[in-house]
Amino acid sequence: MENTTETTKLLVSDRCDVCGAQAYMRVQLAGGELLFCAHHGNANKAKLEPITLEWHDQSSDLNQA
Ligand SMILES: [Zn+2]
Repeated sequence: MENTTETTKLLVSDRCDVCGAQAYMRVQLAGGELLFCAHHGNANKAKLEPITLEWHDQSSDLNQA
């Protein structure tokens, strides 16, 4: 059985599109994909949520470091 969460997991090399910090959120939109750090993900969530197909939130990893 395939683990779909593993294929979408963000890596250290994935960077926030706004500030360049390590990305913890991947936002799948109809027109493409955005990466956000925890801060900018939360800052843009209300605005993007209506047009978001899938919101992958990996910010819980911050607490496991
Ligand atoms: Zn950011």
